[in-house]
Amino acid sequence: MNIVLLGGPGAGKGTQAELLKEKFKMLHLSTGDILREAMKNNTEEGKKAKKFIECGELVPDQLIIDIMKNKLNNEDISNGLILDGFPRTVEQAEALETMLSDIGTGLDLAILIDTPDDVVIKRICSRRTCKNCGKIGSVINLRTQEEIDSYKCPDCGGEMYQRLDDNEETVLNRINVYNKNTQPLIDYYDKKGILKKVEGDIPDRQEDNAQAVFENLSMFIH
Ligand code: AMP
Repeated sequence: MNIVLLGGPGAGKGTQAELLKEKFKMLHLSTGDILREAMKNNTEEGKKAKKFIECGELVPDQLIIDIMKNKLNNEDISNGLILDGFPRTVEQAEALETMLSDIGTGLDLAILIDTPDDVVIKRICSRRTCKNCGKIGSVINLRTQEEIDSYKCPDCGGEMYQRLDDNEETVLNRINVYNKNTQPLIDYYDKKGILKKVEGDIPDRQEDNAQAVFENLSMFIH
């Protein structure tokens, strides 16, 4: 199956994509991860993207479309594909359709992970990412600054860092940008009959929220 994960910043797309990848061995492509890697390596694409990412704006469609075309033409998607953070505009969604049809396939599902803004803001400001293995973690339950500063990757013990766009000011803009540019995709995929929705915050499963969301989301995959 080829799946698009929709949802605002911090909705849980990256976490759910990793769980899907683990269970179904599908290929996970995150445009945010690809761009951060390009910035780290100081490539032309990374340099072009940096100023947009830093203020929470969308990188121009053409740059993203070129990156994804290149990926889809070179990666093995025979076990299925999970797209996280792409498409983010209707123009990107139309380009995706063409890209998939050019390689003889199509999109099966668009799953919206619906998470309230107040939850998202708290989550993003406490999100940390492992420098070593990319694992997404959180300092939300840590009490002291010392505990936060010494927080290590729960999987590999690596150093954790805070994304430069994971701060309250940028997050508010990212939510606005999502509402303006990406919300229309919900209608777009609904009209195509492939939209499904899951709640991204399950109050009575706070300890294992990601797992609870995954149980609901997996029901759509076969
Ligand atoms: P993410 O990791 O998905 O939250 O993406 C981080 C940032 O990368 C976004 O705020 C955008 O600046 C940029 N970005 C990622 N994916 C896209 C996309 N499909 N279209 C435009 N900009 C993107």
